[in-house]
Amino acid sequence: MAEQNRTTIFRDVRPMGGEPVDLVVADGRVSAEAGGDAAEVVDCGGRIALPTLVDAHIHPDKTTWGEPWYTRRPARGIAELGEQDAEVFRNTPTSVAVRAERLMGHAVTRGTRAMRAHADIAPAYGLEGLQGVRTAAERLAHALDVKIVAFPQHGVRRAPGTDALLEEALRTGTADLVGGIDPEGFDGDPDGQLDLVFGLADRYRVGVDIHLHDSGPVGARTMRAIIERTRALDLGGNVTVSHAFGMTGAEEDFDTLAAALGEAGIALTTVAPSPERVLPVARLREHGVRVGVGSDGVRDSWSPFGDADMLHRAHLLAKASRARLDEQLSDAFLTAAHDGAALAGLPRADFEAGAPADFLLVEGECLPQVVVDLPERQAVVRAGRVVARRGRLV
Ligand SMILES: [Zn+2]
Repeated sequence: MAEQNRTTIFRDVRPMGGEPVDLVVADGRVSAEAGGDAAEVVDCGGRIALPTLVDAHIHPDKTTWGEPWYTRRPARGIAELGEQDAEVFRNTPTSVAVRAERLMGHAVTRGTRAMRAHADIAPAYGLEGLQGVRTAAERLAHALDVKIVAFPQHGVRRAPGTDALLEEALRTGTADLVGGIDPEGFDGDPDGQLDLVFGLADRYRVGVDIHLHDSGPVGARTMRAIIERTRALDLGGNVTVSHAFGMTGAEEDFDTLAAALGEAGIALTTVAPSPERVLPVARLREHGVRVGVGSDGVRDSWSPFGDADMLHRAHLLAKASRARLDEQLSDAFLTAAHDGAALAGLPRADFEAGAPADFLLVEGECLPQVVVDLPERQAVVRAGRVVARRGRLV
């Protein structure tokens, strides 16, 4: 039988925690047809099947995952944290490609189907970090969709030469999107950085994903500037603001700003850092603003925490959002699964006929309980194939 005509029956499985069924998968997609005799059978033992998740914001180039414990020094802000990133890069004998592949492979075993990876672009690295993440993505292409953002972590005005490197990253196709960082608060040149970033996005027809930690009037002003440029260049649907702490403090203007983002087709991402700084996903959705969920840095110079486990991140989102009702717990998971998929331009893995057969298997009662208890991922299935079992890639 030809590879592409493979049919598999996942026997005794409970999609979304519902009643047990035999789930038929043909050519990597959920099928409404019966499996037939030639089908391969995978016994799921009554486990729950849930869509695999999208990590909408992660930094695999910075990680020390799998390396000896790294001891961090105090840091007073973004510039000093960036300096410690560069030290990790210089002093770690293991290449970015190897470290990134370890982390990204680990994410697959926990049920991640796709990620948007930010890779630092600065004269301190040239394109080496970016190329490392690209290599890791190629090695894991059978299990994971990866889009890479060329991210000027050290600033554009603050780190001369970054502009040319960003262009090189896009011209060579090594990066898929162009990033930015606090154009006013950190880089001190809002128009300069935004003109460069949006100019590159327009020239190479790539998406934009800007880190915006700035809050208060600076954050709100920067959001306005991003909305204006997105409209002018007709980039709606291809622009994301990450963290967007400007939204969490902007109580008076929240609805006006959210409506403008929704109209402009700008998405946001949150890493659910705290109840104060998590984005209000449900309120934003009312304005048509899509919110992706991500890991951010994992065990890097910025933070000893993080595990690239998106079920755990959904749990953190639920907790930071003070979820209590079942639908609130489930919604945290579905945001990371379906809103993340939309952000990544992927079809929903929702078990409907024709949907990609991308799911994870866990033991449990129901989705809200799984979000709270974080059971072991018994298996991870990608396009109808088991790609990981009990925490290991197969
Ligand atoms: Zn980030």
